[in-house]
Amino acid sequence: MFRIAPTLTRLPRLTRALSSEVSFALSEEQHAIQDLARKFTREEIVPLAAEYDRSMAYPWPIIEKAHETGLLNLHVPEKYGGPGLSLLSCALVSEEIAYGCTGMQTAMEAIGLAEAPVIVAGNEEQIQKYLGRMTEAPLVAAYGVTEPDAGSDVAGIRTTAKKVGENWVLNGTKMWITNAGHANWFFVLAKSDASAKPSQGMTGFIVDADTPGIHLGKKEINMGQRCSDTRMVTFEEVVVPPQNVLGKEGEGFKIAMKAFDITRPLVSSAAVGLAQRALEEAVKYAQGRKTMGKPIIEHQAVAFILADMAIQTEAARNLVWKSAWTKDAGLPNTFYASIAKTFASRTAVENANQAVQVFGGAGFNTEYPVEKLYRDSKIFELYEGTSQIQRLVISRSLAGLYPAE
Ligand SMILES: Cc1cc2nc3c(=O)[nH]c(=O)nc-3n(C[C@H](O)[C@H](O)[C@H](O)COP(=O)(O)OP(=O)(O)OC[C@H]3O[C@@H](n4cnc5c(N)ncnc54)[C@H](O)[C@@H]3O)c2cc1C
Repeated sequence: MFRIAPTLTRLPRLTRALSSEVSFALSEEQHAIQDLARKFTREEIVPLAAEYDRSMAYPWPIIEKAHETGLLNLHVPEKYGGPGLSLLSCALVSEEIAYGCTGMQTAMEAIGLAEAPVIVAGNEEQIQKYLGRMTEAPLVAAYGVTEPDAGSDVAGIRTTAKKVGENWVLNGTKMWITNAGHANWFFVLAKSDASAKPSQGMTGFIVDADTPGIHLGKKEINMGQRCSDTRMVTFEEVVVPPQNVLGKEGEGFKIAMKAFDITRPLVSSAAVGLAQRALEEAVKYAQGRKTMGKPIIEHQAVAFILADMAIQTEAARNLVWKSAWTKDAGLPNTFYASIAKTFASRTAVENANQAVQVFGGAGFNTEYPVEKLYRDSKIFELYEGTSQIQRLVISRSLAGLYPAE
């Protein structure tokens, strides 16, 4: 058990609310869910990951099994049929699944991303209807915010929502939407008042995927995570009933951003899962591969690469746990979530790169596992806010935390 770390004592908002000691020990329940996810990953995901990467087929059978095993919709409260796990417990699962295949993990995580705004702002009826159905059957959902001309600049979205009678009518195009081709429903952010500033002029909607006027683009062929489904989605005169407005009219921007407090720790833990896999693959390979009469792990230059990979992975995992724990403690975690995402995503990219280096020429070949890790890793620095945007979020908190004397 540890006393509060010195860095924490410099963050007044945190220390004030902290009454218990910090511990890295997982509860029995957390060990159990971690073991379940690890077993599922080793048995169901690892053996099939390379084939799904090649075929780019959407991993429906895996998603169905994950649902059956109880590894989806983990942060849906018990009242609505989910297990209502803490964010830290969800992060444990996310890391395990990502160890096996981050393409499949992204497909699963995008469900959580769509659900997060509903958890943040949904009323009883909406939660019951849209999250309830996710727990009852293996369905997927999608989060539609990014547009062809507005990714980092969420304030610049052009999709409009106009009130016609009591309904809303959506028009516009979303881009890079994960799970779009298979979603049962979408979370959609649209401009509902062009004259208001972005933080007050956008509204979030739950849109059933079978609503007339929704047109799906082709499955995008991405560098990595190729079994995940990413598409353009066009909304043409899509009628949405007033019951499907999330929170209040004009609150959409805040809801969409607040969802990231839940999902960024989970994306970050997935990056840790990939980093851990790269580390393990590299360490194993380095023990078997011999050059100049000894296993390459005995060449200090290689051993130090492996040591650095371990350092980065451990540090990234601790940042992820901290960002999840902060949220679970009911404290603002935006700052920590962005720190975790920036560091963990860099670690994933760097570890994958170094794993390829340790494998030498074999690292460049599709018969070995690390080239997939290399391709899969880059997206972590891009989606759910690029690393530059995370730094923007972090830097904006700094002056408030440490005011000039
Ligand atoms: C595979 C994949 C899946 C995705 N899934 C989803 C999804 O499910 N739902 C969804 O809504 N979106 C999704 N996205 C979109 C993703 O979140 C955006 O691509 C991302 O936010 C970056 O936006 P952009 O592509 O428009 O890049 P841009 O915003 O055009 O950025 C280009 C570059 O400029 C930098 N930059 C931009 N503005 C600033 C600034 N102010 N300061 C410093 N640097 C800046 C960026 O960091 C980046 O390096 C997905 C994207 C991909 C590729």
